[in-house]
Amino acid sequence: MSAPVVGRFAPSPSGRMHLGNAFSALLAWLSARSAGGEIVLRQEDLDPGRCRREYALQLEDDLRWLGLDWDRGGSAGGADYFQSCRTERYARALAELERQGLLYPCFCSRDALHAASAPHASDGTPIYSGACRGLTPEERAERARTRRPAIRVRVPDVEIAFTDGLQGDCRESLARDCGDFILRRSDGVYAYQLAVVVDDAEMGINQVVRGRDLLSSTPRQRWLQDRLGLPHPDCFHIPLLLAPDGRRLAKRERDLDLGALRAAGRTPEELCGLLACWAGLLARPERVAARELLPHFSWDRVRREDIVLHGDPLAPLEAG
Ligand code: GLU
Repeated sequence: MSAPVVGRFAPSPSGRMHLGNAFSALLAWLSARSAGGEIVLRQEDLDPGRCRREYALQLEDDLRWLGLDWDRGGSAGGADYFQSCRTERYARALAELERQGLLYPCFCSRDALHAASAPHASDGTPIYSGACRGLTPEERAERARTRRPAIRVRVPDVEIAFTDGLQGDCRESLARDCGDFILRRSDGVYAYQLAVVVDDAEMGINQVVRGRDLLSSTPRQRWLQDRLGLPHPDCFHIPLLLAPDGRRLAKRERDLDLGALRAAGRTPEELCGLLACWAGLLARPERVAARELLPHFSWDRVRREDIVLHGDPLAPLEAG
């Protein structure tokens, strides 16, 4: 028998939840709950410049309002479920990678990294040239006098292949498509790639449901999991909600955040129906509670392609 599903909500509390975040949360919840599984809420608040405790509390309130519950974590779970309070664990993982001889300090400036000539990975980050990979100990010491380095991990020239539960077979050459990546920024903030791998393993997560924009992070995470002796969770990368110009719906689209939608009198049933229709689970945006969608849920029915929202994305609710 396969292990019970343990899924997760992993929001970044850097603003009010928007429809795209609600879409990920609904599908993660339906996937775990329809299999009789558990949900963990982890607040990904690593970036002190962007994340705030009040946003975390607001996110929890918005999830509950949508009808989505969790078994562990969030503020009721205490500091253990806030990444900003888990840095000792990330330091230990970094020390293990250091022991394996995989890390090096990188002194490159942001401008140098983002130079127009640098090739870019599919997620838009520049592929590192390797400029600091071969520095001698003397050169490192010299540079460290004027600059605090970021910590990078040296990736081998290997291809990582995996099967995504929704997007199918995927493969990426770590060296060519991604390059040596940062595990700790020069300001000391641990990178998402490291934190997510440590936390998913420690929290017993075996199913990851998240936006397709993070599909290209999966090879890096699988490779880190192997280096650290951690299991690979199953993954499902869901379509993104896009503005008509192809941009990802973001927290700056204020009129589509849950604050504005709730203030405009939208109900959780309206939003769940609309999100389920976009996902491919309902033919029309009916008014339904999240739990009423459980019998309709199957990954076979969830669409793979991104969803472009034209005009007023909530207009179908008036027609319905
Ligand atoms: N914290 C990330 C976000 O809000 C999600 C990370 C993940 O699901 O792995 O986009």
